[in-house]
Amino acid sequence: MPDVQYDTLETDVAIVGSGGAGLMCLLHLARHAPTLDVVVVSKGAVGRSGCTRMVQGGFNAVLDPGDSIDLHFQDTLTAGGYLNDQELAWSLVNDAPSIIHELEWEYGCVFDRTPDNRLHQKAFAGQSFDRTVHRGDLTGIEIMSRLRDQALRVGPRELEDVRALDLVFGAEGELAGLTVLDAASGRFAVVLAKVVVIATGGSATMYRIAAPAREKTGDGIAMCLRAGLEVRDMEMLQFHPTGLLAGESLLTGAVLEEGLRGAGAHLLNGLGERFMERYDPERLERSTRDVVARSSYLEIVGGRGTPAGGVLIDISHLGAEEVERRFGGMVKRTRLIGRDLSTACA
Ligand SMILES: Cc1cc2nc3c(=O)[nH]c(=O)nc-3n(C[C@H](O)[C@H](O)[C@H](O)COP(=O)(O)OP(=O)(O)OC[C@H]3O[C@@H](n4cnc5c(N)ncnc54)[C@H](O)[C@@H]3O)c2cc1C
Repeated sequence: MPDVQYDTLETDVAIVGSGGAGLMCLLHLARHAPTLDVVVVSKGAVGRSGCTRMVQGGFNAVLDPGDSIDLHFQDTLTAGGYLNDQELAWSLVNDAPSIIHELEWEYGCVFDRTPDNRLHQKAFAGQSFDRTVHRGDLTGIEIMSRLRDQALRVGPRELEDVRALDLVFGAEGELAGLTVLDAASGRFAVVLAKVVVIATGGSATMYRIAAPAREKTGDGIAMCLRAGLEVRDMEMLQFHPTGLLAGESLLTGAVLEEGLRGAGAHLLNGLGERFMERYDPERLERSTRDVVARSSYLEIVGGRGTPAGGVLIDISHLGAEEVERRFGGMVKRTRLIGRDLSTACA
């Protein structure tokens, strides 16, 4: 065994993870508690790792006078099959408009606008009002680039490409910080901190096909479990129903976003049938993610999948130019694997 070398550093707050949650936490700390010392520990590049960058679709918020918080809340409960924690759902729909304004006005995010200069809000499945704020189909890149710019202004100490391993507690059981591993040097370190914020996101790599960034391996959840902390609603993993099947390519699992179904895309099984007619004849492809994911799965296990083992999504009826204008990112991605969303099924 080689000698294990430990370094130690001390801070007030250690934020673990530098996606949307981690960087928003950093910026809020800078505003409300500017004297605190903050260290950001990130397994990937700070502000350029995690899933927030991968967000294509956008965020739902009530901004139009014709829409209402009550309606958004009702849509959220209905889509959640009434399993939602209603307090959390209420906070989500209430806070969403001010977060959009914060992202725009304080951090400089540029979202799509209508010709009369209002924020453009597009249709999303499960929503009874067009309320999804977005930047084309590359919303996450816009948000994370701006948050990263702001984080550089704040200038925390950054431990990049450093993996948090475990929480550390003092003799009385009080939190003392965490242990980390620097991927480049192979060195271990101890970060002594009064507060540790875990913003490491979820864990999807336990599935053969998954959309999230590959460094999302459930570390934060595992750290909490090992420390005997309470975690909740672990069964509530989200399954995004549409993505690329590209054999061994790393693009397998890349999301073909919800906005496609919102814009009228058809889902077809291997027999060319628009199978959502069977499962949700009213909402069809605009049904919620869980219903569309289950329906597609039933088609596939029922022997009506494609030879690649999936189903197809088709939006070519909008016309190639329109598809390319609205969903340029996804068109490019399908072309990388020899298909073309603007002219054919993917
Ligand atoms: C393809 C895709 C599309 C999506 N589209 C939408 C959408 O349209 N609308 C929407 O609302 N949501 C969408 N989501 C969900 C959304 O991206 C996530 O809910 C959100 O980004 C999670 O933010 P986060 O900051 O918690 O995690 P992330 O942004 O994933 O950040 C996690 C951070 O933790 C770091 N990390 C992980 N483990 C460790 C460790 N052990 N030590 C140190 N650092 C660690 C990572 O490097 C990363 O910096 C989408 C998700 C995906 C994958």
